Amino acid sequence: MRRTRRKFLATAGSIVASAALPWRSVAQAEEAKPKRHIVTLSFDDGFKKSFLRTAEIYEKHKLSACLNVIATAHEKGFQPPGEYIAGSPRGDFTLWNELQERGHEIMPHTYKHTNLRQVSFDEATDLITRCLDAFAERLKGFDPEKAVYNFAYNASTPELEKWLTGRVRAFRTGGGAINRWPHRGQSKLTCTSFGPANCEHAIDQEIEKLLARPTGWLVFNTHGLDEEGWGPIRASYLDRLLERLTAMDSVDVLPAGKALAKYVDSRPKDASDLDATEQSG
Ligand SMILES: [Zn+2]
Repeated sequence: MRRTRRKFLATAGSIVASAALPWRSVAQAEEAKPKRHIVTLSFDDGFKKSFLRTAEIYEKHKLSACLNVIATAHEKGFQPPGEYIAGSPRGDFTLWNELQERGHEIMPHTYKHTNLRQVSFDEATDLITRCLDAFAERLKGFDPEKAVYNFAYNASTPELEKWLTGRVRAFRTGGGAINRWPHRGQSKLTCTSFGPANCEHAIDQEIEKLLARPTGWLVFNTHGLDEEGWGPIRASYLDRLLERLTAMDSVDVLPAGKALAKYVDSRPKDASDLDATEQSG
């Protein structure tokens, strides 16, 4: 599906190239426009209806959605931590495996949505371990070394961050919304979110800040669509936003794990941080 867009870009590029720089090949014209901004909308809580619709909207734009789900939220014994999760049915691993199969990224968003700042260190690490074990058991091909662990309430502690480093590829917690370009050794991703009301304005503001920088990686923590979840966005807004972002040459819309895989882990080791050095200059 990426090929179609590349083909379109190549065609659009050739028109520009032949008009302005007739001696340059299409390939050179494409290389002259490297990605400089990454936008990750990181959707939490695993609402059945919203996550299906989100996946469909990303597919419409030939993109992969970043979907973070709670290991036990579909189980009978699950005690929702508040009205925003209690109010809407959650999906199960049959659905998560199906969406993963369709190209979306499914990542852990805790075992049972406990705020790990409010429990002991031992209990917190036990809950993270149970979460990762549950994912390994239920999500096809799950590999902690490629996973991004998404803290509930974006609430971590320095001790837990240290403990998690090396156990997963990366973790997402609270902090600034704009991260450095993906680089080797990056295991901490920070994000912001906005709620409980509609968070579209907050996303627009962060995107404006991102685009004003030479380079950067925006991670914005979103939840459901329309009326579902804390700080929702409208499905129609998401559709228009992806339309706008995919039309920008500098922007890559990616889930968090795929951003690390594409710009760090799949690159030769001696080429580390090439992008960050070149593009932040
Ligand atoms: Zn959550």
